[in-house]
Parts: sequence; structure tokens; C-alpha cells
Amino acid sequence: MTRIIDTLKKEIPESAIIENADMKEYTSFKAGGCADVLVIPENEDHLMYALKTLAESVMEYMVMGNGTNILVKDGGYRGVIVKIGDAFSDIRVEGERLIAGSGALMSQVASAAVDAGLEGFEFASGIPGSIGGAAFMNAGAYGGEIVQILETVKVAAKDGSRIFTMTNEELELSYRHSKLYETGDIVLEVTLKLKEGDRIAIRNKVRELTEKRNAKQPVDKPSAGSFFKRPEGYYAGKLIQDAGLKGLTVGGAQVSELHSGFVINTGNATASDIVQLKEVVQATVLDKFGVELQPEVRIIGEDK
Ligand SMILES: Cc1cc2nc3c(=O)[nH]c(=O)nc-3n(C[C@H](O)[C@H](O)[C@H](O)COP(=O)(O)OP(=O)(O)OC[C@H]3O[C@@H](n4cnc5c(N)ncnc54)[C@H](O)[C@@H]3O)c2cc1C
Repeated sequence: MTRIIDTLKKEIPESAIIENADMKEYTSFKAGGCADVLVIPENEDHLMYALKTLAESVMEYMVMGNGTNILVKDGGYRGVIVKIGDAFSDIRVEGERLIAGSGALMSQVASAAVDAGLEGFEFASGIPGSIGGAAFMNAGAYGGEIVQILETVKVAAKDGSRIFTMTNEELELSYRHSKLYETGDIVLEVTLKLKEGDRIAIRNKVRELTEKRNAKQPVDKPSAGSFFKRPEGYYAGKLIQDAGLKGLTVGGAQVSELHSGFVINTGNATASDIVQLKEVVQATVLDKFGVELQPEVRIIGEDK
């Protein structure tokens, strides 16, 4: 590990390399363990250098965006996490196209779309992740999905060997899935194809959906959003509620009283509390309704 860190430091400033990074600080669940190393590249050259260095090592590594769909287990992640953050958040508008760096937050993309009078992104405005994370998992809300507005992405190969473009079709986006799950390649930039619209109407739509979200979701509590994927033909939240699990608590983890699809951290949840609660929910829903709930949240690392 020390050798890798030394190699990373040859090209990347020390301030961008954090050892024993407490992932509570970098994930919206505010729970879990440390990553051996967290690298936060300040530009594309640093990122490509980090990817090449890591690919040539035996070290496990992965990327993250805003950490709103990740849970790191309490024993921590043995490897390197590369965080795509603010340095990759430039947004520009070219006609009806909005081109955003993958670290741009969905709220920033939504503001840029409103300012440019471009419609089509409103459904995604309240998703708290980055646009890179949203492309990776084809994020969606209120009947919309990224697949409907994504034209192309600029991607870095996981081993840092090249940068290339993928079209919407090549990404094979489906419900909370893209081809990048298999390849591990990294989104650098996303081109969205939106439509000219009425700025005031677009702003009002964003407001309306934000109010709806704030009323129906426990947005004031740490969570990773809907914990489970929507099983075909059902809604996870409704199954969980009908199974009588609303409010169920394990340690500091709780099935939200407001929205049963959310697992929240009531204050001092460990990742183990959250994982145990997930298991109880899965077993109960399977037992009562014969439906297998799959987590949408990416759970990484090892137990304590
Ligand atoms: C309160 C709340 C509400 C939410 N509501 C919604 C919702 O309505 N709809 C919805 O779909 N999701 C929702 N989410 C979940 C989450 O915001 C989305 O999944 C979001 O797209 C994750 O983006 P991120 O940048 O936080 O990704 P992270 O959590 O950092 O990472 C998630 C996955 O994406 C990968 N990834 C991240 N960035 C990149 C990149 N640049 N290139 C390649 N892979 C990358 C990571 O490797 C990881 O596997 C919600 C979460 C919260 C906390």
C-alpha cells in the first residue's frame, strides 16, 4: 500500500490523497467504515494517472461520485476509492444540449437547465447524486429516467488507458443499470439532449417536484434514498409497509416512518445495523409475499 501511495504522490498533490478516509464523511448514510485510501483528483490528468497506477497494482479500486448510493461496511474498504467531485463539475449549454462534467450535482445541472430554458431534466432535479453516478445507474424519478435524455457520455477506461465516447445505446441503460456495472469504466462527462421550453414553467415544475419529494421522503435524515430496487410488478415501499415493517429499528437504523422504501440512520447507525435491517426486511417480504427485494444501494467493504 505504501508503495502505491508513494507512486500516486509523484503526480497527484498530497492534499488529494487521504489515507484511512472515514467514509461517513463522504456518504449520505453517514455510517460505515474507512477506505484505506480516498483519492480526489483535481483534474483529468490526475484521474487518468491514478487509474493507470491502480490498474498496474494488485489493489482493489473503484470510483464514487457524491456517495448517495453507497454504504461502506464497518470493517472498511480494503483498497482505493477515487472520488469524482467538484473538479469535474463544469456545465455548458450548446443549443438544446447540456454538457456536464460527471461530478456536477443533479441540482446544479437542474439550475443550469432552468437558466438556459431547457426542459426535460425536471424529474431528476431532486436526486442528490452526481450526474456521473446518475448515468452509471440510470437514475430516475417521477416517471423519468436518465436514459430518456442522455445522448452520449465521455468515458475513461477503468485502467486509465484511453478516453472514449459511448452512445446512449452502447451504455445499455435499463432499470437502475448500465453496462458500466460490468466494465467499471468511469464517466467523465455527460451530454444531455433537452428541449427548448418556457423558463418559468420549467422552474415551477422543479419547485413542485421538490415540494413533493420533501413531503413524501425523509430528506432530513441520512439515507441512501430507496434502499431496494423496484421489484417487477410491485413497489418495494408498499411491500415493506404491508409486511408491517414501517418504523422497524435495528440499532440506529430504521425503516422510515414517512416512506417505507427508505432505510434511515436515526443518528448513530453502524453499517452493520443497516445491513441487518435490510436482511430482516428481505426475509419478511419474501416470507409474506414471495418477492425477493434486491438492494439498489451499493454495499462495499468488509465486516468489522
Ligand atoms: C434522499 C435521497 C433521495 C434519492 N432519490 C433518488 C431518486 O429519486 N432516484 C434515483 O434513481 N436515486 C435516488 N437516490 C439515490 C442516488 O442519489 C442516485 O443513485 C445517484 O444517481 C447516485 O449518484 P452518486 O454520485 O451519489 O453516486 P455514488 O453513490 O457515489 O455511487 C453510486 C454508484 O455509481 C458509481 N459511480 C458514481 N460516479 C460514477 C462515475 N463518474 N462513473 C462511473 N461510475 C460512477 C459508483 O461506482 C457506485 O457504484 C436518492 C438518494 C438519497 C440519499
